[in-house]
Amino acid sequence: MSTQEVRTSIVWDYAPAPESPDHVRLRDSYGLFIDGDFRDPRDGTRVPSLNPATEEPVAEVAFAGPGDLRRAVESARRAQPAWAALSGLERGKYLFRIARLIQERTRELAIVESMDGGKPVRESRDVDVPLAAAHFFHYAGWADKLAYGVAGRRAEPLGVAAQIVPWNFPLLMAAWKLAPALACGNTSVLKPAETTPLTALLLAEIIQEAELPPGVVGIVPGDGAAGAALVREPDIDKVAFTGSTGVGKDIQAALAGRGVPLTLELGGKSANIVFEDAAIDQAVEGIVNGIFFNQGHVCCAGSRLLIQESVADTVIGKLWERMGRLRVGDPLDKNTDVGAINSREQLDRIRSLVSAGEEEGAVRRSIECELPDRGWWFAPTVFTEVAPAHRIAVEEIFGPVVSVLTFRTQAEAIEKANNSTYGLAAGIWTDKGAKAFEVASALQAGVVWQNTYNHFDPTAAFGGYKESGFGREGGPAGLRSYLRVS
Ligand code: NAD
Repeated sequence: MSTQEVRTSIVWDYAPAPESPDHVRLRDSYGLFIDGDFRDPRDGTRVPSLNPATEEPVAEVAFAGPGDLRRAVESARRAQPAWAALSGLERGKYLFRIARLIQERTRELAIVESMDGGKPVRESRDVDVPLAAAHFFHYAGWADKLAYGVAGRRAEPLGVAAQIVPWNFPLLMAAWKLAPALACGNTSVLKPAETTPLTALLLAEIIQEAELPPGVVGIVPGDGAAGAALVREPDIDKVAFTGSTGVGKDIQAALAGRGVPLTLELGGKSANIVFEDAAIDQAVEGIVNGIFFNQGHVCCAGSRLLIQESVADTVIGKLWERMGRLRVGDPLDKNTDVGAINSREQLDRIRSLVSAGEEEGAVRRSIECELPDRGWWFAPTVFTEVAPAHRIAVEEIFGPVVSVLTFRTQAEAIEKANNSTYGLAAGIWTDKGAKAFEVASALQAGVVWQNTYNHFDPTAAFGGYKESGFGREGGPAGLRSYLRVS
């Protein structure tokens, strides 16, 4: 046996390395965070927030009714003039304090994020929570430099922002929304998603500890009806929404003619393009990160894998081998690569699209792994023999499922990549810098990564084209969405 064969025959076994939730200080029941305190809902309800890995309740949470939302908006309205009148330096200090407190509670926030949402604790600890803190740090720095962010023009806050976030990055999306809004002198009413409200409520505790004036931030969990009611509140000056394209269109219709500025961060079906001159092993890691990170519950997931025909067999072979080494299971185990699917509803949606893929003639391969008896799980899956018209090549699956298409020329790669109603992100794998720039400039995608994927930074703008939405979050571009510039 050659040395090479001996080396590749090693099988790694991992002993469980679970994070302990023991020190997490969750309350049994959370009220609505309105006017600086947790309050009982007046016309809302209380519902349990479930752990998708066990189907057990993690804590009970108040869901806002229309009257509760009105109260939150009124409180934000009262607080706004004084918040805007503070100097940027003072507002920045509050944001800075929030960032530091997030850092201090990193471990707890990471564990709760994984318990409430199902994502591996390795990701919530190393990505979600540090990036949430980084967003507050970043916009803390901008608060006293707003004029520089808008090329020296006069900039004023919009007023009260209604902000709605999805369940896939609950704390991080809250940070993406709140940090720039507050830095610019707006106040905010934030509605977390129905299945993952807990880290936003821990953020409310942090906001209390940071002594933000009451009403500057309201956090009101609720379902889709609460979101729909919030955007229809008459006394709001801005709506920022991250979620599905269908709901985005509904919000756009609700705001038509009202003159309320809107930012939409919607769905995607992003192309991850591997050229024959790419560093193949590196590309395979990027493909895995692109689609299996956060169980594929990522708006910019590299869910359409475009491989140059000459290397397709090699890439697919290596990808399949690498997928076989993914560890699926307990989100709180630090060895876990792929955690639980966020909800039963989302699992049903993934299953239905995967069945459609099989029925339409694509070839499905899912890795064999032991899945826990309880909870919601889906084994990492790759589809080959995919045609561009197949539903799995067109629709957002939002799960650990990648659809492989091939191409022969650069022009064909660009055409196939742009053949989507979405335009959120793309990846390009090549060792030719000029080719990467040429392809990137021809792609209709808000973010294009070269030789990496799912790389986020608070200084970089993020947002979509076409049905992936409009407006940008992150960096100086993210200030524009919260300022009236004259
Ligand atoms: P969703 O649209 O169902 O829900 C998102 C949020 O909107 C939730 O808080 C929900 O309660 C609320 N909502 C539901 N119906 C509403 C209505 N009629 N009016 C107002 N609010 C309403 O999306 P989801 O399933 O929670 O999240 C997944 C989607 O989010 C995917 O399509 C994903 O691509 C997208 N997403 C986009 C980005 C981005 O930055 N572009 C980031 C993360 C997720």
